[in-house]
Amino acid sequence: MSQTVRTICSYCHANCGMLVQVDGEKMTRVKGDPDHPSSRGYLCKQGLHGNIPIVYHKERLKAPLLRTAKGFQKVSWEEALGFAADRLLSLREKYGSTILVREMGAPYTYEGGTRFFSSWAPSGPT
Ligand code: SF4
Repeated sequence: MSQTVRTICSYCHANCGMLVQVDGEKMTRVKGDPDHPSSRGYLCKQGLHGNIPIVYHKERLKAPLLRTAKGFQKVSWEEALGFAADRLLSLREKYGSTILVREMGAPYTYEGGTRFFSSWAPSGPT
């Protein structure tokens, strides 16, 4: 069964409107949504041609990996975030909040990264 799903491109913070054709459970075609209020049917080359190859890329990470002496091990999100939080807190305790630099930019890291680091070091220089 084929259907068209209305969504947004999440490659960058522009979040252009996107219509995705889905056949069964697989994305087969992407085009701009002419009814989206800001992008009005426009998708850049990255949005138009990049979404499907990335979703189905054979090396796409689908779970967090933790580097161990035996190589990368698949772990739960809870374990991965707990590990990262513990390491960041220990760095902050040892060196102060200026030990880390916050970098912002597209694509995905922008919004999530901003919220994460803002809650971690709300008043310290970044
Ligand atoms: S990557 Fe291109 S299509 Fe996707 S949101 Fe950004 S500008 Fe829009």
